[in-house]
Amino acid sequence: MTQIRPDLDSLPAYVPGKTIPGAIKLASNEVALPPTPRMLAAIAEAATSGNRYPDLAVAGLTARLAEARGVAPERIAVGCGSVSLCQQLVQATCREPEDEVVFAWRSFEAYPIVTQIGGATIRTVPIDAEFRHDVDAMVAAVGPRTRLVFVCSPNNPTGTVVTRAELERLLAAVPRNVLVALDEAYHEYVTDPDAVDGMDLIDVHPNLVVLRTFSKAYRLAALRVGYAIGSPEVATALRKVCSPFSVSSMAQAAAVAALDDEEVLLASCADVIEERVRVRDALLAAGFTVPQTQSNFVWLALGERTAPFAAHCLDHKVVVRPFHPDGVRVTVSTPEENDAFLAAARAFQE
Ligand SMILES: *Cc1c(COP(=O)(O)O)cnc(C)c1O
Repeated sequence: MTQIRPDLDSLPAYVPGKTIPGAIKLASNEVALPPTPRMLAAIAEAATSGNRYPDLAVAGLTARLAEARGVAPERIAVGCGSVSLCQQLVQATCREPEDEVVFAWRSFEAYPIVTQIGGATIRTVPIDAEFRHDVDAMVAAVGPRTRLVFVCSPNNPTGTVVTRAELERLLAAVPRNVLVALDEAYHEYVTDPDAVDGMDLIDVHPNLVVLRTFSKAYRLAALRVGYAIGSPEVATALRKVCSPFSVSSMAQAAAVAALDDEEVLLASCADVIEERVRVRDALLAAGFTVPQTQSNFVWLALGERTAPFAAHCLDHKVVVRPFHPDGVRVTVSTPEENDAFLAAARAFQE
């Protein structure tokens, strides 16, 4: 027998949203629209050099991001999606099995997976009755073996945000050698003025690193590109543990083009922001428990009815993302797709 790590047997698998021909996919928080013509042209152009390795240093995109976000390029690390950066953060901070990674639960399903792959110990802190991070309980969970804290705002899958005051409280309370990773995959959908924006805090807190992605608002989920912004020390460490050439030339070029087209991309976020209020109101009227969302998805706290609800939606040709036995996450999409989902959801209550 090959000597495979026995602990991989208990590794939870990342469950992708299902793609079913003919069905509406509201399971992965993607944008329904394709990349813009400028982005598609950049991808096609980069593909003509597909026989060559990509730029290992991701220099062009890093410089463009530095300019767009107003930070020095040394403070940016680009990765093969921000999921990869999450894994790199664990690899960069944890070495012993006793090293701990703290995060809220339920939160992003990749956190337990990357922590376990990194051979570190998972310390979860239950979200509160309002489906929000319990920041004080998270502070209390930080101990001498804590190496990394993931904070997800807006939280996948509940859509709730951590406020700036809460994150400042957490940063003030945790030791300065504990790295705090603020995962802002849905930052472009945030409208709540009290919600944290990690970029406002990174200059004051060298132990804060902000994660952003091109997979959601920037319509590049298939191209795999995300980035971290933090101290030069953290960015350097992330680059050290990155597997080489993991950000393709097509991804690098597409992300630069996405930044050029940022206005167009953010304008379509505004449509989703409008729709999410309508979708939530309709669900509340139909009797579902749905927290306010600052993201491009809604959370239906269905408990034991989670799996039956997902199956029912599938019968109506709508694919949602169940997290049995907690609830169902549903992407807010175009008005037509949302209406199809709402019809299915109402039929479930009858
Ligand atoms: C979708 C998502 C990401 C982005 O993942 P990529 O690897 O960049 O596609 C990161 N964090 C959270 C919480 C997400 O929901």
